[in-house]
Amino acid sequence: MIRFDDVTKTYMRGQNPAVENLDIEFARGEFVFLVGASGSGKSTLMRMVLKETAPTSGTVHVAGKDLSRIPSWRVPALRRDIGMVFQDFRLLPSKTAYQNIEFALAVIGTPRKVVRRLVPEMLEMVGLEDKGRRLPHELSGGEQQRVAIARAYVNRPSILLADEPTGNLDPSTAEGILDLLAEINDRGTTVVMATHDRTAVDRMRRRVVEMVAGRVVRDDAHGTYESVAPESVISGNLPDGAEDLDAQALADPETDHRDSTDDAQRSPDDRPGRQAGGSHRVPHDGDDLLDERDAHLREEDEAFAEDLHDPESAR
Ligand code: ADP
Ligand code: MG
Repeated sequence: MIRFDDVTKTYMRGQNPAVENLDIEFARGEFVFLVGASGSGKSTLMRMVLKETAPTSGTVHVAGKDLSRIPSWRVPALRRDIGMVFQDFRLLPSKTAYQNIEFALAVIGTPRKVVRRLVPEMLEMVGLEDKGRRLPHELSGGEQQRVAIARAYVNRPSILLADEPTGNLDPSTAEGILDLLAEINDRGTTVVMATHDRTAVDRMRRRVVEMVAGRVVRDDAHGTYESVAPESVISGNLPDGAEDLDAQALADPETDHRDSTDDAQRSPDDRPGRQAGGSHRVPHDGDDLLDERDAHLREEDEAFAEDLHDPESAR
């Protein structure tokens, strides 16, 4: 389903790679936790799956397709088959819960009849059937994340990437979100979740991939959060010669929630809620939902999406 072949990503020349010599495969239907201190490369890995950023060397395959060979006009179709959920929800603030979900269907030209059936179905699946008319600010954090998950899942993507989806939520709310992701996984979607949520990882006992400074130091089929890997940073095992690690992460084994502070140091277009780059950007509210799409393009997209769903072409 997703395969990295010797992938290295260096954002800026002279800098340490964000991801280094990554060789890993996520199979169809798997649930994978990506763990590791802030700055270890989790988000970079996900952004390469979405083709939001390209590897410096090596290849990434999604559903049997080498992403470097997907022409840019096909990237929207790729992303439509990959749901994405973020720590900060990224809902359209002036649209209701219903409209936020509807939006994901409207942009691909889903017939109105189908929209009217699917949106309530999604709201019900995430337990918000009576809150469709609420605006994001009228919802709790957990409820906002449910809407974001409904929006990410409404097109039944074959992959769902969740980047610290419970990072802003209290433990009991986080539990509900995790259950939802597990349900989506049960329905066949491959889920890759970056997290610092120790409780979540320990409760699920699924595959755990741990990263340190862009490298995989652990890959357990039924792992826990705590690591016996000698290089592990999250478990406070001092890494050997890992001079490139976030000094703070080393000094403080409690690395949770560090990402939000990281963001402040990044370029403005890398911050959550950015407008540029990727189909997951937050569109302007005034945008015509169906602009830019003619029927021809839509057909091409559908054919491509079918390819992605085709077990023959999947790996
Ligand atoms: P994580 O998600 O595990 O916190 P990231 O993938 O965000 O890790 O970051 C990995 C490394 O790449 C960090 O050193 C980070 O500062 C750097 N990095 C991430 N995004 C960018 C970017 N857009 N430009 C330059 N460096 C980046
Ligand atoms: Mg991250």
